Amino acid sequence: MGTLHIVGIGPGNDDHITPSALRAIQESNHVIGYTTYIRLIKKHIEGKEITRTGMSEEIGRARVAIEMAKEGKTISLISSGDAGVYGMAGLVFEVLKEMNWKRGDDPQIQFHPGITASVSCGSRVGAPLIHDSCTISLSDLLTPWTVIEKRIESAAQGDFVISFYNPASGRRQRQIVEAQRILKKYRPGTTPVALVKSGYRKREHIVMSDLDHFLDYEIGMLTTVIVGSSQTYLYEGYMVTPRGYSNKYEMETGKVKEGQRKTFSLRHEGDMNSRLEDLKKEEGENFKLAKTYVTPTDSWVTPKDIHDKSFVTKKDPVQSALNALSILDKGPKKEKKVEEERPALPIKTTNPSYLGWMEGALLYFDGKQYFQIGEFKTPCDLSKKGFKELEIYKDGIVRELKKVNDVKNDFEFLCEGGGIEMAFNLYEKWAILRNKSISKRVGRLVKEKSNKVLLNQQSYHDIRWLCQMPKEIWEMVREELLKC
Ligand code: SAH
Repeated sequence: MGTLHIVGIGPGNDDHITPSALRAIQESNHVIGYTTYIRLIKKHIEGKEITRTGMSEEIGRARVAIEMAKEGKTISLISSGDAGVYGMAGLVFEVLKEMNWKRGDDPQIQFHPGITASVSCGSRVGAPLIHDSCTISLSDLLTPWTVIEKRIESAAQGDFVISFYNPASGRRQRQIVEAQRILKKYRPGTTPVALVKSGYRKREHIVMSDLDHFLDYEIGMLTTVIVGSSQTYLYEGYMVTPRGYSNKYEMETGKVKEGQRKTFSLRHEGDMNSRLEDLKKEEGENFKLAKTYVTPTDSWVTPKDIHDKSFVTKKDPVQSALNALSILDKGPKKEKKVEEERPALPIKTTNPSYLGWMEGALLYFDGKQYFQIGEFKTPCDLSKKGFKELEIYKDGIVRELKKVNDVKNDFEFLCEGGGIEMAFNLYEKWAILRNKSISKRVGRLVKEKSNKVLLNQQSYHDIRWLCQMPKEIWEMVREELLKC
């Protein structure tokens, strides 16, 4: 069977072509590509059959490549940058489709990605693409101008950094002027703009300018124009788009700014205000959820009545979760005090079981059997903890352990029920394996919602309520609480 390699050669020098692309080219009997690209890789294709084509012969180029590969040859079809970004890959599929080619048919197709112009040119001028960015080709040879115009407008409105490919050619001069006009409606004239011509090639030429002035410079077929977002700035001649660290952290000290939390969504003044106003109109003032991690200013859950007793309503999961929450909140009031100050109440129970942390996993003891729930954070010698492994369930979600010596284990939580079913149940409720940081937060939340109790002179957080709560309901409560 023949092979068609669809190869992106990167910006155009040997340092920036991938080993996979190079290997494909070297393996090929025949290399097909636009004249300029063939020239860029000329020393790698000496002695090979070569088909050079002009710009407007692309369909023919793709068809020839497929036909030749079908004859059993190994062919490389070359694009600059990446073949999947305004390159030959799409065209190959269009021709294959026309031929009714199916997966497994001759020829086989292999892709070799390359560094696309936005990425290579971006790296020549600093770090312009750090945040959300997009690429727009200004070539209206195959795309109606009205479509392109709409995309520029949307990208400008969305404050994307924009890399313009095919910004102009000998005949096409109007498009980039129009693009500037649209962008200026949304961004200041001082917005940085980089013009990178022939990036990483011999004739590389770079101009740093701004939105008001970049049209004063030469822009052609070999140029990529990178227009900054409203946040992009110039620093020491480099074009930089901030990632947003300074919204959350003091850059000098690295400390989290007041009102922000490290692993939580960025709190931004007025962020949700537009939505809050609408919600207030619909729901009245009652929709705010007190005593959760949802602070009043950014809460946008919309329960009609959070104290509805009908617990689970099938139609409205948010409502159900909130109902469940309100039941949790009816437990004994817990003042905001440091944990030690909370009095532990002595209790009696007939079938206590116990839960504690062990090296990032949970250790569960139901009075008879021990279970490890979740994986250890780092490999750990079980015998040092007093155990031997008996059985592994469901790929290690739960392991049954046997006590082999009397190393003492610490248990923080009082549970009830037992057996492997309860171990699975606790796994589900704690979301142990799926995401360690969520399981930690769930742990904190569970502690906060639980009473401290004394059993046989030992104090525990009493999480029997969690053992009893149906899994589905807890899932909803958890999702609500972890939302922000
Ligand atoms: N497949 C290519 C893009 C082909 S469209 C890729 O992924 O990069 C052709 C356009 O790409 C040019 O008009 C120019 O805007 C951009 N381009 C490609 N290589 C470039 C380079 N080395 N320097 C600057 N722009 C380049």
